[in-house]
Amino acid sequence: METVLHSDTPTEQTESRKKQLLSVIVPVYNEEQVLDAFYERATAAFAAIQDVDYELLFVDDGSSDGSYEALEGFSRTDPHVGVVKFSRNFGHQIAITAGLDHARGDAVVVIDADLQDPPEVVADMVAKWRDGYDVVYARRSHRAGEGRMKLLTASAFYRILSRLVSIKIPVDVGDFRLLSRRAANEMRRLREKDRFVRGLVSWIGFRQTAVEYDRAERHAGDTKYPFRKMLQFALDGITSFSTVPLKLATWLGYAASLFAFLYLASVFVQKLAGITVDGWATIMVAVTFLGGVQLICLGILGEYIGRIFTEIKPRPMYVIEDLHNCEAVRDPSDAAHRFGEPAAR
Ligand code: UDP
Ligand code: MG
Repeated sequence: METVLHSDTPTEQTESRKKQLLSVIVPVYNEEQVLDAFYERATAAFAAIQDVDYELLFVDDGSSDGSYEALEGFSRTDPHVGVVKFSRNFGHQIAITAGLDHARGDAVVVIDADLQDPPEVVADMVAKWRDGYDVVYARRSHRAGEGRMKLLTASAFYRILSRLVSIKIPVDVGDFRLLSRRAANEMRRLREKDRFVRGLVSWIGFRQTAVEYDRAERHAGDTKYPFRKMLQFALDGITSFSTVPLKLATWLGYAASLFAFLYLASVFVQKLAGITVDGWATIMVAVTFLGGVQLICLGILGEYIGRIFTEIKPRPMYVIEDLHNCEAVRDPSDAAHRFGEPAAR
């Protein structure tokens, strides 16, 4: 991790040998309105970081606007830019994963394309990495330009999640973070398909720390996370790190039994006291309530079984259509890889 330059005027060659490489992964989905601004600001910010070389690795997550053409344009004129193009939209978390798979850097940073994560913060992350941290995540101390609904649901979600899971997932932290090479290598070994990348990063451990930043407003365009996707994301987060919901049925069962037992006692007392009750309403309430509880429990079971189903199918996580300035890397979960390739003759 030492990057001391011994001479004030090193030749190009010794300089590039000593410089460490910083890979910056940018997932992109229909962001043509922001890409030019992002490219300019990011390039300026990363070029200003002392003693590192950088590669900007865009993962085009099946954009249907002009994003890919714009990225291809950058990669033609700028050797720092690499592009991985997916064959369709596979989702933000999988785009990050493909970026981690293809990044070659000594440190890897994940950043959004919409300039909500300021590229200038990366210099602080690099400084912490040089202090010996393997994971430097960026904590949002302030979020601008996001609806109250989003802030409220996000805050509630992170707090519920932290109660349900046994590993420590930091609160108010997104996917904007730096990983050291060894942390990135560990991440590459985790091939689960319902991915909650920020949870996985907590799971790998190592020395982790935070830098604070103000989350800016989206530069242009709309969020690619509508409420439906957010809900799915929240469910993935909970189910991939906690089995507490599965225990809900047991707790509800205990509660219902206790209630039934107390009710039985009260019926017995009423009987002795000679009170006769018209029981229709009571029965209806009990039947519908328990029916509801049972369906909820079945639904929770379904969520987990659905995920088991997704995990056991040996499909690769993503399909790549095209690469620019970037070497093809085999997906470690590829079936051919897992079951051994046909022997070469
Ligand atoms: N993104 C992606 N695939 C998707 C959705 C989003 O690659 O299916 C990218 C998007 O282009 C952006 C980042 O993920 O760079 C974060 O998305 P967005 O800004 O829409 O999320 P928000 O900040 O609103 O939570
Ligand atoms: Mg955003």
